Amino acid sequence: MTTTSRPVPRAGILDIEAYVPGKSSAPGASKVHKLSSNETPLGPSRRAVEAFKSIAGHLESYPDGAATKLREAIARRFGLDPQRIVCGNGSDDLLHLLATAYIGPGDEGIFTEHGFLVYKIAILAAGGKPVIAPETHLTANVDAILALVSEKTKIVYIANPNNPTGTYLPFSEIKRLHAGMPPHALLVLDAAYGEYVNRNDYSAGLELASACENVVMTRTFSKIHGLAALRIGWAYAPEPICDALNRIRGPFNLNAAAIAAGIAAIEDTAHVEMAAAHNAKWVPWVTQEISALGLQVTPSVANFVLIHFPQTHGRTAVDAELYLTARGLVLRNVGSYGLPHALRMTIGAEEANRLVVAALSDFVKQAE
Ligand SMILES: *Cc1c(COP(=O)(O)O)cnc(C)c1O
Repeated sequence: MTTTSRPVPRAGILDIEAYVPGKSSAPGASKVHKLSSNETPLGPSRRAVEAFKSIAGHLESYPDGAATKLREAIARRFGLDPQRIVCGNGSDDLLHLLATAYIGPGDEGIFTEHGFLVYKIAILAAGGKPVIAPETHLTANVDAILALVSEKTKIVYIANPNNPTGTYLPFSEIKRLHAGMPPHALLVLDAAYGEYVNRNDYSAGLELASACENVVMTRTFSKIHGLAALRIGWAYAPEPICDALNRIRGPFNLNAAAIAAGIAAIEDTAHVEMAAAHNAKWVPWVTQEISALGLQVTPSVANFVLIHFPQTHGRTAVDAELYLTARGLVLRNVGSYGLPHALRMTIGAEEANRLVVAALSDFVKQAE
């Protein structure tokens, strides 16, 4: 028996670098525009807020642990089987539960070079080994992923579209990825931004998750529904996978306010359409205006854009972040995603979008 002088976390835990959320303050600025966490500038549906408030009189009661009404509302909205939906305390919860259920010591989980950082944390927390597939032009590369798949691979996580790059894989590529994977390995399609994509070669992956035994699609209420504070995510998965997740999830992993607000939000399709329309209007505008300043912007299908800065003194991403923050414009630095020369900007309200473009214009000029 080996002894230690104090409790020591098991292998892998101390290899985890804790997730650092986007900043929300800009000390000294009179008004702060938070464009660092991909939240919607439209806020949630008013009906969701009303539903949330309606719970206040019943806080002594446990929520429905199975979140049945929410699963039914989601199922109605997308024409799905509610038995195959599992809800999570945010989709982060589900990404972790999947790793806990399918990855153990010696197993591997794959994600891509600039993929969402939660995948790495979930794989390490489960005792597995993170395996990183290189990307091409900041986009997932199916061949590079498949080259790393082995008997040890238990999960391939792919955010489609990806955060923080805003790039996506067409459904044909997702199908090719799935076709190249062995049946024992699970493909997790994280469609946190799926509602924002308006490309006819895109699919969030419901068809695959419906038809295949090794595909799970995850979604969230944090982004287009504007309910990030309430922590609601859901997975569509084959029944045996739902069964595994339901055995290990917290018995009341969704709180009552989240369930009530989630139902109202999913039913308010007009609100979702309005948020998508706002985004469809401003992504091209922001992309074009910032490109016109001589800064490269990665084409995005999501509700944020990745802006690249030169590596010249006075003009770097770090300089830009300081410059913008002093003006109350909080963007996301993405150094932890292997992108030290870029900032990610969430599409905001008109005022915020115009202020960022104006500030970047000044920034570029002052650096000349
Ligand atoms: C924001 C985001 C999520 C959603 O997280 P929640 O836990 O549901 O708030 C999931 N995946 C990606 C890629 C994201 O950017």
